[in-house]
Amino acid sequence: SSNLNIRKVTYTGEKSSQEKDYTSPAIVRDASKCILCGRCVGACGTMQTVGAISFAKRGFDTVISTAFGRPLAESTCVNCGQCIMACPVGALSERENIDDVWDDLADPAKYVVVQTAPAVRVALGEEFGLPVGTRVTGKMVAALRKLGFDKVFDANFGADLTIMEEGTELLSRLGSGENLPLMTSCCPGWVKFMEHNFPDRLGNLSTCKSPHEMEGSMVKSFFAKKAGIDPKNIVVVSIMPCTAKKYEGAREELSREGLQDVDWVLTTRELAAMIKEAGLDFVNLKDEAFDNPIGKGSGAAVIFGATGGVAEAALRTVFEITSGKALDTIEYTAVRGMEGIKETVIDLPTGQRIRTAVVHGLGNARKLMEAMERGDKTYDFMEVMACPGGCITGGGQPIVDAGTSE
Ligand code: SF4
Repeated sequence: SSNLNIRKVTYTGEKSSQEKDYTSPAIVRDASKCILCGRCVGACGTMQTVGAISFAKRGFDTVISTAFGRPLAESTCVNCGQCIMACPVGALSERENIDDVWDDLADPAKYVVVQTAPAVRVALGEEFGLPVGTRVTGKMVAALRKLGFDKVFDANFGADLTIMEEGTELLSRLGSGENLPLMTSCCPGWVKFMEHNFPDRLGNLSTCKSPHEMEGSMVKSFFAKKAGIDPKNIVVVSIMPCTAKKYEGAREELSREGLQDVDWVLTTRELAAMIKEAGLDFVNLKDEAFDNPIGKGSGAAVIFGATGGVAEAALRTVFEITSGKALDTIEYTAVRGMEGIKETVIDLPTGQRIRTAVVHGLGNARKLMEAMERGDKTYDFMEVMACPGGCITGGGQPIVDAGTSE
């Protein structure tokens, strides 16, 4: 994109009187910076078909607004952050939690555990001038230890748990024939989109928590017990490519006995900012490994960040459980006339068939949901990621600028 890369502007002249909207736990809107270019409206309304913000009034009074000027938290915003990626002047940004995490790191009574998503390790390097896609897992782990985290875990462990849980849930729904298709629930943008747009289909969503939530709850139960630490003193921080995970982390139902599974979610951009604030020479850090016992993940978990990864991992699990054999390559075919949607059919040795669809981008997801409502399409399993391209191009990833980068 030809993004202007203006993120934080210090005003020197007359400042607009418009208040910042801090109501959402994920997205902050500063309408005083808005230049009415409408890119966010295109990203939110046309591309994602969420339509949480749009042009209002017109003429000299034109503004970009939520419906009836309501606060963002009361709109249909799904927190995917694609508006942030589109905004050239920083009028939209993630709700920063950097200071919250610094405070916890500085508190000697707190035991601060961090976990990182697969899509972060392949994007963080961009913030430090490394070529796009450079894998910096070892340097990232080293940097997190230097920032003061007590344990550095891999969210891939949680992804493996999700795969096992979701695979067995799929098998049991195939057996009962109820609530099919099973729809993945690891993308909080998609879950909120369903809540607003297809509430009668909520029973189709998987009952599994997303990987970092599963891992957060494991840290505050299994790990806390093993390490002899009171869970009340444990702080779980997730580093995610995603702004919607901030909203997910704050959801009341993802807590137990008053403790959130995950306390803070930082985006890849926020982690890069912390590393820069600490003055670490990131590029020259020596590689370090994740901590055990929650530091190991399988090959299946690594593909979670890419679109189709969750479905593939779950299908492989189901096939192996029912046949005792590994599944060969999964061949997908593109759905005609529907860009961003692919499908496949897996035959199980039990005689059951799993008709699967993989979708990225909420605009595509809406098209598929409508095709299913019309009866034009039937599936048993659906993987949906809200962001076009999946988490790898999530709303919390580095913003790549054409010709204007630092
Ligand atoms: Fe977050 Fe990934 Fe969903 Fe985007 S696709 S909202 S990055 S979980």
